[in-house]
Amino acid sequence: MIKVENKISVCVDCINFIANGELPADTTESQDKAWVDKINANWPPGEQQLVDADEHAGFETTPCDCCDSPLHGDRFSVLILKKV
Ligand SMILES: [Zn+2]
Repeated sequence: MIKVENKISVCVDCINFIANGELPADTTESQDKAWVDKINANWPPGEQQLVDADEHAGFETTPCDCCDSPLHGDRFSVLILKKV
């Protein structure tokens, strides 16, 4: 069975990556790798699934829950799904 474990707020780069597999347009390959490594360290693949909740969570000044980016900006809700 799949259970919704948590709901987090992520930055626009993370929602594009989670929803569409898109990497940020303005970064180098090594920056992209470091960024994806950070996300995988925070949310190890295989332990849970991150799913776009299709919900704008508003403007926030706290770090992104996914990649830890400290930049302020729009946040989007992502559900953390776990097998139970
Ligand atoms: Zn992020």
